[in-house]
Amino acid sequence: MTRLDELRRNLAATEERIGAACAAAGRERSDITLVVVTKTYPASDVELLAELGVTDVGENRHPEAGDKAAEVEAPVRWHFLGGLQTNKAGAVARYADVVHSVDRVKLVNALSRGAQAAGRTLTCLVQVDFDATDPGRAGVVPAGVPDLADAIAAAPGLVLGGLMTVAPLGEDPAPHFDHLARLSVSLREQHPDAGIISAGMSGDFEAAIGAGATHLRIGRSILGARPSTG
Ligand SMILES: *Cc1c(COP(=O)(O)O)cnc(C)c1O
Repeated sequence: MTRLDELRRNLAATEERIGAACAAAGRERSDITLVVVTKTYPASDVELLAELGVTDVGENRHPEAGDKAAEVEAPVRWHFLGGLQTNKAGAVARYADVVHSVDRVKLVNALSRGAQAAGRTLTCLVQVDFDATDPGRAGVVPAGVPDLADAIAAAPGLVLGGLMTVAPLGEDPAPHFDHLARLSVSLREQHPDAGIISAGMSGDFEAAIGAGATHLRIGRSILGARPSTG
């Protein structure tokens, strides 16, 4: 089987699961954006995915993401999902369309400067962390969402898109995804256009669809198991 056939088969199987979860939740497939997470996989896979109709791809590291964005000719949208050091924000602002992992005001300022310097507009999501037991995790606690959202909304070159989370490992993700959905309702009282809810990965996207996710970030189910962490 060629890599194109393998990706086509995996994409179809994943779409079938997405369709079933939408049906179960009474939602439309067209209300959900599939971001295919291509980290650790080559630029050639992004080209093949684009051939298969994929419009949005996700990466979690710079410079890997930037190298791929420079190499890929297909007109895909690039989503940056990972922890981001302030000193790399300017580089990421040159190719990313959406940054899902904004979790501090310093990063907002750096992304804003980078977007302005590049003459681009970046959609930013506030990453929310529901795992109070692990202070090393990326994301702001729920109480920190309003201030960070206001900072993004006020920053030149940035657009507040909404919220993102990664469910804590080894826990039932559903309550966390429900919590994110409630935070999204509150957020939209102040920022009506910030409707993105980025939640759900290969292992838990059905629960995310049930909770109202608008953006799924799916890697392994489509590209295959990654060799190591990431
Ligand atoms: C890697 C990654 C994903 C995709 O995870 P899979 O288990 O491969 O589907 C989604 N979101 C983030 C933030 C990631 O780093």
